[in-house]
Amino acid sequence: MSVSMSRRKFFGVCGASAAAVATVGGGTVRAANSVRVDYKGFDVWADEALIRRAVPIALGRIQSKAVRQNVYDVGARYALSGRVLKNSNMTDNEKNRKNLLWHQLSILSQPNSPNDDKTGRRAFPDIYIRGVFEPKANWLGRAHLDKVVVKWDGTEWVQEGDFDLQINTHFVNSGGRYNNAEEWASTIAHEMLHNLGHQHPEDDGGGEWQIDALNMAVLCGGHYGHADHKHVCSFHRSGGHDW
Ligand SMILES: [Zn+2]
Repeated sequence: MSVSMSRRKFFGVCGASAAAVATVGGGTVRAANSVRVDYKGFDVWADEALIRRAVPIALGRIQSKAVRQNVYDVGARYALSGRVLKNSNMTDNEKNRKNLLWHQLSILSQPNSPNDDKTGRRAFPDIYIRGVFEPKANWLGRAHLDKVVVKWDGTEWVQEGDFDLQINTHFVNSGGRYNNAEEWASTIAHEMLHNLGHQHPEDDGGGEWQIDALNMAVLCGGHYGHADHKHVCSFHRSGGHDW
């Protein structure tokens, strides 16, 4: 199983305030409220605490239809693992490839049923987050492909597997944007999409990939690229690393 390294693109103009709401309204946040998250490998409590603040932001926003819509509104390209459509029991055609992300996030975001705990079936998979200290590496987060599958079992849509991602603790609380929970929410969302089978091949100048647009949409609370929200996120001006 390959490891996909996160190389997030940062832009000077985010298109949203850093103070955007952390969770969405309505019923779509129920799954986020009950999701199980396991944290390991964080030697510094303040670092784990920052990631713990970031996770609910990530979960709330990736379950937001507005955030999902933002990815499609900016016209991002799609790049999928070789197995994800087969794993999902979906026909491999361009329409399904393009719409897979929307479909996966829609299914995962369904509110929990009252019987979830009794049946053992939950609306959102468990999430395992492991801190790894790699000071000489230039990755913020990384995750294996195809860890979580949303598939049609012949009767209904089901989910299999758990989210499983790594955070490079070298950068957590290292200053500027790296002290910001929204930035880490953006990275966490990005790595969760790797788990769902999304990739970002080497850029050939053809445009942005869905996985990158999604982490920007999470960061910007669904206003990524919106002309009417054109102001700079403060932490984007704070300098530091760029890749
Ligand atoms: Zn990545």
